[in-house]
Amino acid sequence: MNADPLEIQKFSELAHRWWDPTSEFRPLHEINPLRLEWINARAPLAGKTVIDIGCGGGILTESMARKGATVTGIDLSEKALRVADLHSLESGVQVRYELIAAEDMAAREAGRYDVVTCMEMLEHVPDPGAIVRAAATLVKPGGHVFFSTLNRNPKAYLYAVIGAEYLLRMLPKGTHDYDKFITPAELSQYARGAGLDVQGLKGLGYNPLSKIYSLNDDTSVNYLVATRRPL
Ligand code: SAH
Repeated sequence: MNADPLEIQKFSELAHRWWDPTSEFRPLHEINPLRLEWINARAPLAGKTVIDIGCGGGILTESMARKGATVTGIDLSEKALRVADLHSLESGVQVRYELIAAEDMAAREAGRYDVVTCMEMLEHVPDPGAIVRAAATLVKPGGHVFFSTLNRNPKAYLYAVIGAEYLLRMLPKGTHDYDKFITPAELSQYARGAGLDVQGLKGLGYNPLSKIYSLNDDTSVNYLVATRRPL
């Protein structure tokens, strides 16, 4: 199975705090409006069928459903999915959550989705290329696949590990393993290898003084990639 049990355990242990915007998941809450609008501008979500791979507690998942999409969220953390499910019951936003590996879902529901998202997840799996291939299998011809992850270079190490985990203590120590970070060139290669066209890259910046996130063209730390399956 293409999953690291320690990674799944790490997210499961924190899962009860997923929807607390002051918790370890604060960065996901703060970047969510930015990534949601970026996705929605490229693939207007209303009426679309969407799958969110590695959905966790459902921050992006639920927000895409609020835009009028029919959304499925999958993850391998049972606890995160339970939290996601409870939250959607409470908020009244309908989402289908399922504990299933991306590769298994790809075998079962190939070509069924207009939009596939996989955010802040590839840097936690043993074989990210296999997840990219599963995403490419799940999307319809002409559909969109969006990824986000952490770049691998000294600046990314300084900001995403030393800065976020040790200096600013925004994330628990050990959240991210530098060796698993993925460069935009590597991610683009996985995407092209899976038959996806890479359409655009966007950087996700954080200003530690203003504590404000923004989308920009600096992909050196956290970045998003938009891809599309040809018709
Ligand atoms: N995509 C969400 C959550 C990111 S946290 C968001 O951006 O808001 C990373 C998530 O990936 C966690 O929920 C973790 O359980 C999940 N994950 C890690 N390895 C996985 C794997 N191999 N398969 C599916 N999910 C995985």
